[in-house]
Amino acid sequence: MTASWRARLLSLFLVLPLLLGACSATGADRATEAARLADALTSAISSGDRVGFDEVFDSSVPAERLDEIWGNVIQFAQVRFTVSSEESWRVDWKVTDERSVAHNVVDAPLVCVRGSCLLGDLGQSSGRPTPVWLVEAITVQRVGRVTVVGGQAADAWLASSSAAMEAVASAEPSSLLRPSTTQVVEVPGSTDAFEQVMAATAFDFRGTGAVTWKLDGGVTEDTGEEDSAIHIVVNPDSTGDLTEDGRRVLLTHEGVHAATGWLGATVAGRTWVSEGLAEAIALPQAADEQERSLERLRAACPEPPGPPSDEAFTDPEQLDYAYAWSGWAVGRLLADDPSGAIVEALWRDSATVVPASVDASAACG
Ligand SMILES: [Zn+2]
Repeated sequence: MTASWRARLLSLFLVLPLLLGACSATGADRATEAARLADALTSAISSGDRVGFDEVFDSSVPAERLDEIWGNVIQFAQVRFTVSSEESWRVDWKVTDERSVAHNVVDAPLVCVRGSCLLGDLGQSSGRPTPVWLVEAITVQRVGRVTVVGGQAADAWLASSSAAMEAVASAEPSSLLRPSTTQVVEVPGSTDAFEQVMAATAFDFRGTGAVTWKLDGGVTEDTGEEDSAIHIVVNPDSTGDLTEDGRRVLLTHEGVHAATGWLGATVAGRTWVSEGLAEAIALPQAADEQERSLERLRAACPEPPGPPSDEAFTDPEQLDYAYAWSGWAVGRLLADDPSGAIVEALWRDSATVVPASVDASAACG
């Protein structure tokens, strides 16, 4: 009897501290644990420590998922995690030689036992853009002035991406074009991957071949930090049957947007200036694309409308003409003034008068 009672008392002593431990995973503890895990993950990736990487994750995370994330992240020059709130982390990432850093916010739920936590997952934060390397297995391939990041479909974009960025790097007016040492082109392998990368439905981007955007992850509180990276993201749904020429024109157009990102958005009513500059540099990449654009412009002769409104570029009824006119007009402005000064003035200042040389009827002459 006595021995049994003693044994029960002992086991109570053993159990109690465990229970107390489990109860003590307070908010403060979790925040400390989150910071510790974010640091451990960052240093495991930067030092190529696969064991250390695995030790950050809870055993509930499938081994294949860990293999995929690890295989992806070790291809980047930097992947740095910091805690922005308890279960949502900021990640700063870049490829080798990229001028700026991309910022995303990702979900990082913790699994805590007795005040000690591990990472239960790493994935999309609801409604926020997700790094393509958390969405699918990717490769990071450098070709000339471009780094293509994406799934299996990425290989088909290497040659056209490289040719496009060469075209942007040698294009005039060089005073307006400031391409990165290496332009990142992301090629999500599926509709689902594209939707997670963009945090939007593919429907929102129907008919859009590619998007150029700044990866700031909504992180704007920083001061004195270098600007966020500008990446080009290819839409797999609307580019499936593009020819090599078509890909090159598309990526040159987007490459111009990326290289003029430093200018910021055009003033209201002048979307045609930025779209026109992109077209004026991209269309000469393929003679048949250029001819097709001029045909769309001439279809409105003898009395084509003047500069298209900003809305025309998102209106399926008007956008063919909007792009055609803009490309023609900015090409003409650059022929008159190769320095690009008038283009920049139109871009930045709504008071700058549109020169008479691009009077719409001149397009028909
Ligand atoms: Zn554009």
